Amino acid sequence: MNSPRLVIALTKGRILEEVLPLLRQANIVPAEDIARSRKLIFDTNIENVQLMVIRGSDVPTYVEFGSADIGIVGKDLILEYGSEGFYEPLDLKIARCRMMTAEPVNAVPVQGRLKVATKFTNIAKRYYAEQGKQIELIKLSGALELAPAMGLADAIVDIVDTGNTLKANGLEPRDLIAEVSSRVIVNKASMKIKNGIIRDILGKLRRAVEANG
Ligand code: AMP
Repeated sequence: MNSPRLVIALTKGRILEEVLPLLRQANIVPAEDIARSRKLIFDTNIENVQLMVIRGSDVPTYVEFGSADIGIVGKDLILEYGSEGFYEPLDLKIARCRMMTAEPVNAVPVQGRLKVATKFTNIAKRYYAEQGKQIELIKLSGALELAPAMGLADAIVDIVDTGNTLKANGLEPRDLIAEVSSRVIVNKASMKIKNGIIRDILGKLRRAVEANG
């Protein structure tokens, strides 16, 4: 009997560069060079297993609704999207970074509501609510580091890796909101219907993560 078609949704960009070697270790190899192609879906060396390459923020959507069976996406985007709609069985321990608050160096405490700029509005809302702090949330889609210098916000909530981007813009990290790394997520129905192949892939990926220490 033919194995069922299985679609794995990958996050394009920085995560992809770290995920492809891990997939290769798990013996899942795209049939052509993803980095050089403008295609969005690729066959692999395994019959009926396909890779699709999309924006990270769309990976949870594709997996929740079952158009992709498996997704690989940053924990930041899972926290922002909400983690109810799928399983999250494996931490790949790659593309590690931190979700943090940041403020201008030597910022004086703000009287009244703190203005917070971010693209991670759900994460920010939840975090400040847990702190019992009333804020004014300002949604941006990029270049968050610019907002305090331009007088748009008092603080930002963003991803920090080396901290160089913050520093270059006169900001410094303050509070840690969450440790971030890439996770494997699985559609709930697929986990039942395609259990054999999904367990096989998860096992291979888990061994690859362990082998990399
Ligand atoms: P850095 O200057 O090293 O602190 O990097 C900060 C910027 O790089 C952030 O604003 C993010 O947009 C991006 N970045 C760093 N690490 C990651 C990651 N693991 N996933 C997604 N974006 C990241």
